[in-house]
Amino acid sequence: MAGPIILETIAALRAWRSERRAAGKRIGLVPTMGALHAGHLSLVTGVKQAADEAVVSIFVNPTQFAPTEDFSKYPRTFDRDVKLLAEVGAEAVFAPHVQDMYPSGFATTVSLDGPAKVGLEDAFRPTHFAGVATVVTKLLLQALPDVAIFGEKDFQQLAVIRRFVRDLDIPSEILGGTTIRETDGLALSSRNVYLSPEERAVAPTIYRVLQEAAELVRKRQPLDRIEIEAAQALAAAGFAVDYVAIRDALSLAPPYAAADPKRLRLLVAAKLGKTRLIDNIAAV
Ligand code: AMP
Repeated sequence: MAGPIILETIAALRAWRSERRAAGKRIGLVPTMGALHAGHLSLVTGVKQAADEAVVSIFVNPTQFAPTEDFSKYPRTFDRDVKLLAEVGAEAVFAPHVQDMYPSGFATTVSLDGPAKVGLEDAFRPTHFAGVATVVTKLLLQALPDVAIFGEKDFQQLAVIRRFVRDLDIPSEILGGTTIRETDGLALSSRNVYLSPEERAVAPTIYRVLQEAAELVRKRQPLDRIEIEAAQALAAAGFAVDYVAIRDALSLAPPYAAADPKRLRLLVAAKLGKTRLIDNIAAV
């Protein structure tokens, strides 16, 4: 099986993209930070339902990590990633160098309000979405894909990307991919490798608590009580809870008390030891 072509420069990406478009192919972009797992691979499969050829970017973006976060120890498994991408039939890997993405004198930031300022991830990672929005804008302008796909696992990130793509008239369709989970319910994440065996055993509690909370939302229990009791259940299991929030699935704003459960999303961020986990599900 021929593996994907490796593109290390923006010029090489643009040349590949022009050539494939000239051959009549629709291009799908899958942005990642590498350390690929079945969740990422499902996005490749997903984007190829809407495009002929997939380019997967692998770039650990320094600007979306705060100085206290795990940029330097973030897992990097490039050769393994390329093998996995060959297995799912990705046509190209774009792996730019930091100095090409952020040349000396780099001075531009894409930042937004709306879904980026609703008091979820932004309350705990105040510089994160400016880093994400800036790098994803660059990737979209570099690859000019017909379609790009992002995971619902990072639900606020997906809402942020949909918003600035619309606001900036970036001509790529944005798709969301469903969250891929371990059999015990833990959402796949490159950061799961940080969990000790004991923490790994506790981690699926997040999904269980989310499902129990969703059941109470469907029974029209008061949303604020559901949030509090879910946070207490996580704390009792050993998590340090950043938030448990029930939000409008489109705006991510706090919903009206009588909101239709079909419009609601339940979101959690919590730490187990040093590892911060996030997850979310629909209420219905
Ligand atoms: P990352 O490499 O963590 O930046 O993630 C790259 C893309 O994969 C993002 O769009 C994520 O939302 C998505 N992703 C991460 N984990 C999962 C998962 N378990 N299932 C589906 N997509 C995921």
